Amino acid sequence: MSVRAKKGAKVEQSTLFDASVLGRPLPMVGEQKDIRYYGTVARNVLNGPETTGMGFWSVNPYVGCAFGCAYCYARYTHRWVLDRAATTNPEHEDMQAARDNLSPWLAFERRIFVKQNAADVLRNVLRHGSDKHKALLNGDTIVIGTATDPFQPAERRFRITRSVLEVLADHPGLSICIITKSPLVTRDIDLLKRINRHSSLTVHLSLISTDRELARKLEPRAPTPEARLRALARLRESDIETGINVMPVLPAITDQPQALEHLVKSVAERGASYVNSCALRLRSSARARYLPFIEQEFPQLAKRYRATYTFDHKVSAAYSEALRTTMRSLCEKYGVAYGYYGRNGGEAEIVEERFAGAEQLQLEL
Ligand code: SF4
Repeated sequence: MSVRAKKGAKVEQSTLFDASVLGRPLPMVGEQKDIRYYGTVARNVLNGPETTGMGFWSVNPYVGCAFGCAYCYARYTHRWVLDRAATTNPEHEDMQAARDNLSPWLAFERRIFVKQNAADVLRNVLRHGSDKHKALLNGDTIVIGTATDPFQPAERRFRITRSVLEVLADHPGLSICIITKSPLVTRDIDLLKRINRHSSLTVHLSLISTDRELARKLEPRAPTPEARLRALARLRESDIETGINVMPVLPAITDQPQALEHLVKSVAERGASYVNSCALRLRSSARARYLPFIEQEFPQLAKRYRATYTFDHKVSAAYSEALRTTMRSLCEKYGVAYGYYGRNGGEAEIVEERFAGAEQLQLEL
């Protein structure tokens, strides 16, 4: 999903962790090949619209993401946490080394922070009758996974996202959205069904290409397109609203009409609730990783990418409109709705271009 925040908004940084909590030692709680996991104690896990600058609440059970998508926008959130952790834990050699020796984009993928107390914190803020609980009963949406994939490999071991879902399952009347690339989400179908019975629930599966080799290059450690398509089918068989976010569409790499048609056809055949798309936007931390990646992997495109993104973070309006027109007509052809899936007055509806209108920062998951 593409989640966009108004330019200048303090996206989660102020509430991901309390500075005093960060002062505590951060024990390594696991290791998996070249990835290290550090346990953290979060003060807050439910970030409100006024803090995030986004039109919804967000929950991120982890900081960092092992899937390592070349275009990932979310790396900057990790840098802030790593810097704070290294500064406030001078005796923590791992933290110092990660900050000093790993490039920020790689640290995001290899040093993952695990919010071990996320469920307890969430249960506390959602206690029945609390202000946050009342706001959420009024129709605000909770989005899980705006700055990390909540079902990345860490989740298999730590089950933080599952524990968060367990809390949400105990609170009827909510509007919940999960963003992921991982079929691991199907592990929790039991919980998703429970939530679905008394709350509004949508899963946004991100899929930008059905070409396995291309996907491996762009999203080196993410699940294969086939695995995501199987997850889509399973979720739909379980009556879970599941849409596909073709985000970001990468100019000259994933935007060939035939490739997009194959993608739309594939997800329509598996019952996708909707399809949405958005062209690549590059803010500074994403640009710092993505443009060198293009130089290395797609050198023939480097000049065009530099021309497009050096002085702006987005493609031209003409490109966006052409993409929208193409996707809308493909969706019509294969009988799947085009647009965001949202909730209005308790009823589910497709809300096209829901976040358009302001100058915005794309947060793509
Ligand atoms: S785009 Fe999403 S899945 Fe990919 S690395 Fe970033 S947070 Fe993870």
